[in-house]
Amino acid sequence: MLFAHDTECGLIAAAALVNTDEPDGEGLPDVAGLDRFFVANGWTGRHEHTEAELHAVRRLRPRLRRIWHADVDEVVAIVNALLRESHALPQLIRHDDQPYHLHAVPRDAPLATRMAVEAAMAMADLVRAGELGRLRICAHPGCENVLVDLSKNRSRRFCEAGCGNRAAVNAYRARKAASRS
Ligand SMILES: [Zn+2]
Ligand SMILES: [Zn+2]
Repeated sequence: MLFAHDTECGLIAAAALVNTDEPDGEGLPDVAGLDRFFVANGWTGRHEHTEAELHAVRRLRPRLRRIWHADVDEVVAIVNALLRESHALPQLIRHDDQPYHLHAVPRDAPLATRMAVEAAMAMADLVRAGELGRLRICAHPGCENVLVDLSKNRSRRFCEAGCGNRAAVNAYRARKAASRS
C-alpha cells in the first residue's frame, strides 16, 4: 500500500466522481443515478435522495477535475478552499469494521460536503508526499477520464472505463467495497 487506506479510497472515489461528468453523457443523470453511484462506490452515511443533493454533487466535479490539471500551488489552493468551506476538523474515528482513520466532517454532513472533504484530505496526502504525478489523464486517444496510479511501478496509463486493465480495477474495487461494508 502506497498511502493510508483512507487516502487511497479517497483518491479512487474522487476519480470515480470526476469521471461521471462525461463529455458525451451525464453519469449522474438523476437522483436514481446518484443512488447507484453511492452504492457502487461504497459511500455510507447521510444520503438525501434529493435534486438539491444531486446538484451539489455535480457542482463539485469540475473543481475536483481541475486538480488533475493544476500545478501544485493551484492544487493546494483548491484543497485548502474545499477544507475551509467545509469547516473541516480532522478527527480519528473508528466505525464499522475499519481501523482508526481520519474523518474531517461529521458522518451526517451533506454528501457533497463529505465527498469534497474526503477528496481534499486525500489530495493533501499526495501533496505532502510529493506524489501529484499519480494523478493522470487516461492515455487512450479521445478519453478524458482521470485516473489515480496506485501501482508500485507507476505503470498505470488507462482509465477504468474499458480503456485498460478492467480486471485489475475490478479487483481493487472489490477490495475497497469489502473493507467499507
Ligand atoms: Zn470512515
Ligand atoms: Zn479511458
